[in-house]
Amino acid sequence: MNNLTLAERDKQYIWHPFTPQTLAPPPLPVKSAKGSKIILEDGTEIIDAISSWWVNIHGHGNEELAETIKQQVLNLDHIIFAGFTHEPAVQLAEKLMPLLPGEFSKVFFSDNGSTSTEIAIKMVIQYFYNIGETKRKKVIAIKGSYHGDTFGALSMADRNPFSAPFDDYLFDVDFIPFPTEENWEEVKTQMQSLCETEEVCGFIFEPLVQGASGMRMYKSEWLDDLIGIAQKYGTLCIADEVMTGFYRTGKLFATNHLTKNSPDIICMSKALTAGLMPLSLTICTEKIYSAYLDDDRLKTFFHGHSFTGNPIACALAVKSLEMLLSNERQGQITNIINRHTEFGEKVKKTKFCKSVRQQGTILAIEYDTEKETSYFNSIRDELYDIFLKRNLLLRPLGNTVYINTTYVISNSELDEIYDGLFDVFEIGIVTYKTNNLVSTI
Ligand SMILES: *Cc1c(COP(=O)(O)O)cnc(C)c1O
Repeated sequence: MNNLTLAERDKQYIWHPFTPQTLAPPPLPVKSAKGSKIILEDGTEIIDAISSWWVNIHGHGNEELAETIKQQVLNLDHIIFAGFTHEPAVQLAEKLMPLLPGEFSKVFFSDNGSTSTEIAIKMVIQYFYNIGETKRKKVIAIKGSYHGDTFGALSMADRNPFSAPFDDYLFDVDFIPFPTEENWEEVKTQMQSLCETEEVCGFIFEPLVQGASGMRMYKSEWLDDLIGIAQKYGTLCIADEVMTGFYRTGKLFATNHLTKNSPDIICMSKALTAGLMPLSLTICTEKIYSAYLDDDRLKTFFHGHSFTGNPIACALAVKSLEMLLSNERQGQITNIINRHTEFGEKVKKTKFCKSVRQQGTILAIEYDTEKETSYFNSIRDELYDIFLKRNLLLRPLGNTVYINTTYVISNSELDEIYDGLFDVFEIGIVTYKTNNLVSTI
């Protein structure tokens, strides 16, 4: 197609997500991807340290998954999911059910994380509508939360500059503070006083790790207590495991860390299909489902999408789960956890490290902006560029750099990520850049 580069042709017609259209550099043209590596048009190999936006767990270009897709396409590619069913959807539900943290009963399919949380809150709201409990109109979320970009999901996420244009149209949510050692007693008291009014229908949370707001971590004991308070007063609890699911926190689900309570609804997506196809699940308890069992048609859950329960995506999820539970993959996950812990200790001592947090296979390192002498428009952009020039895809959230890789990443690839991080945190952005330690790309 004429003499334009891919980036130039892209610029003509394409609008990218989360991208300031005039400020962002042109997107990098990707030719292919294999394992934990992204290969650009000019042959440059970049290590994907964020597993392609937290989705890819078995590596790019996996043969077994490719074969699964091929066989499923040839057998059954798509079928309307109202009035029809198929083996991959049923198998996925059967295989997941015994692995879930608690007693769950029904799986509702959709195709991304945002719809999975929208569906969850709709399920909760209509649950109380169906049982005729009309005064429960409130929803509780945690400050800093992120549950997706569609309207309902956005309503349940913390208000921020990105949501400002829409704030007037979002439904009201009561936000409790993000729990810390300092404020825990206060958080508990707030939760208690909100819930005891018995006006709250749902409490939604990202268990143990708030992803988008900077990989912020909190104790499972606290979450256990918050769920306990909510459920004591009849509030239904929604675990948004869209990011935390599938061993990101060291267990299959983050809510598997809970010892006393379990959520009423669990949402999953991202790594569900190993990052190859869009799919999400909203899984609820029998208590919730039973409110929809009525001959009154108006008590039906009227929600669905064209791609609900897509067989190819379901077949992938079944295969991915089987691979995830294999001894090989479990060994790799343990290795990543141990190596992150070891590196965390090392990077903690660097000059520009403010704090290090780890939960399972996620390692987050905060850059100390106060120690930085120069003023930057955006520390985040500086860090992103430096790492990219070292052929590392790390996508900082504010001044927090995190690693959230595939599980097939090799020790030498991990070393390259660690070395890049260590250098920048040891000598600082300014020295790093002025000494031109930025290697070629
Ligand atoms: C990414 C994410 C979502 C939204 O998922 P999409 O597939 O991007 O719509 C929701 N909740 C959490 C916790 C997420 O990390």
